[in-house]
This record gives sequence, structure tokens and C-alpha cells, in this order.
Amino acid sequence: MIQRPRGTVDFIDEQFKQKQDLERRFSDFFYKKNYIGIETPLFESKDLFVRTVGDQTDIVQKELFELEQKSDTKYALRPEITASIIRALAESGSLKTKPKPINVFSYGPCFRYEKPQKGRRRQFNQLDLESIGRSDASSDEEFIVNVVEFIELISPKKILLSISTFGSEERKAEYAKDLTKYFADKKDSLCELCQKRIDKNPFRVLDCKNPDCKTICQDAPEISLNQEERERFQNTVSNIEQRISPKGQTSIKIDKTMVRGLDYYTGIVFEFSLVDDETRSGSIGGGGRYDNLVGELSSINLPAIGVGLGVERIIDAIE
Ligand SMILES: [Zn+2]
Repeated sequence: MIQRPRGTVDFIDEQFKQKQDLERRFSDFFYKKNYIGIETPLFESKDLFVRTVGDQTDIVQKELFELEQKSDTKYALRPEITASIIRALAESGSLKTKPKPINVFSYGPCFRYEKPQKGRRRQFNQLDLESIGRSDASSDEEFIVNVVEFIELISPKKILLSISTFGSEERKAEYAKDLTKYFADKKDSLCELCQKRIDKNPFRVLDCKNPDCKTICQDAPEISLNQEERERFQNTVSNIEQRISPKGQTSIKIDKTMVRGLDYYTGIVFEFSLVDDETRSGSIGGGGRYDNLVGELSSINLPAIGVGLGVERIIDAIE
């Protein structure tokens, strides 16, 4: 008998209903917040993901689900939705014509050619939100509070919001230099892959699962923000806290070690997990501010913030 490919699931009856219900509540919630819906192809030019997600990331180097065909154009199944959304909004002229911020939601399958294991599938479903055109701190706050409110609506469990920041693009670049310098002295003790990463993308070393790399990372320098960036971050976190704390379902943790697996973040970054008395789920999703991606894919430079939530991860965590 032919079986389903490794790392995939079938949604039958109850599971189908559960998934559809989640997607419906997601659309309903964000329609009410005046978000517009968007659906893009499941595959794109491979180049779109190489340029946006980053050619040094695991997603592009190891996990991209490439399609083989007779023409010269290289295609890949999308590993996430953000790049496709920006590509679509640029191509349709919406980035120019629509009033800002452009708030969009999308959902559907994404693909990563990973070693299948619990919580890591080769085809998985994402709920995705992007808010394009504003860069002020209150837009960070507004966006994150909306996401928290949605997760509170669908989760019977408590929610942990982990949050950090790259400060700004300049600070991120400085931090990258600090890390490169720190790792350069210890190069021989790093794994082979990380030795290649330290010049081009030292952030990926911080994500490495190799025990030797992990040990070295324990003493790696932290990002040092300037006063303005520090204040912006502290104010944003305390404003979010004030708005969400009355319900008591969500708590916030500042996690400076958090480095998201995508290259394009330039400011605030965040991640959600669900908790009950004894256990804490793995991440159910996360996102952050990316102020350069739109400019890289189009002629207009617009700041943006986005989030992706894993449908299967939410369903697993809720049960
Ligand atoms: Zn390593």
C-alpha cells in the first residue's frame, strides 16, 4: 500500500474540523480588525526565499523543498509566507496604492525538507499576519496585543510571550560584528558549519544544536542597545503588559537569547508558547519587525512587522 510521505499528516473528520475551525476563527478575528485577506502560490522562484530568508539560514541551506522541472527557473515550495506576501503586494501595485498601514492575513501550508520528528513536519500549516507601513513603537504594541488577544481567544491554556529586540538595523550589524569577533577566537572548537557561519551570519551559531557550539555560546556577548532603543523596548514591553495583564492569561518574559531563525528581523522579535501548571509547549509561533525586506523586494522601502503561527503546533499544544 502506498503511504503518505514522511513528515506529513492527513486531516480526517474531527481533525479536519479542528483545523478549519482555527482558520475560520483566525479570519473572522482579523477581518474585524480590518485586515485584508491574501492567498499566494505555494511555490515561488527559489531566489525569493534565498534573498529574504537568507542564504546562510538552515531554512535555505538545508530545508528548502526544491522543485525539479525542465525549465531553467528554479522553484521552491514556500518555507514561510511573509516573502510571498510582500512579493504579491509589490507585484500588484498594492504597496503603492493601498493606505498605510497595509494589514494582511493569510494562511495555508508551508514546506520544509526537515528530518521528520515530533513538532517538525515537512508540510505544516501556518496562520500569518503582516502589518506594512509603520515603524513607530505603538505599531509594535498594537500588533503584538492583537496577536495575544487572538491566541487568548483560541487557547484554554495560559500563554507565555517571550520577547526581545535587535534594537535597530545598525545595532544588529554592530552586534553581528561583536559576535564574529567573539567566535573568531574560538573558531577551532566550533562545528564545521558554524566555522563557515561566523563571518557571514554569526547569529546562526547561536541557534546551533551542536553541544560544543552551545557551550561556546553560553558566554557570547549580548546585544548592547543605545539609550533610545532601550527605552523604546522597555516602554513597548510595559505598555503591552499593562494592556494584557488584566485578564491574567498571558505573561511576558524578556529573553535576550532569543534569535529567530530568519535573517530579516531588524527590531522587536517575539515568540509564543502555551503553558499549564506543569508543562510548557514548544513555540507555537513567532515573528518580529523587519524594516528592510519590503525595500529589498520592491522599489518602495516600507517598514513592517509580522508573525507566523503553526496550526498543528497550536492544536497539539491545546490538547
Ligand atoms: Zn555549530
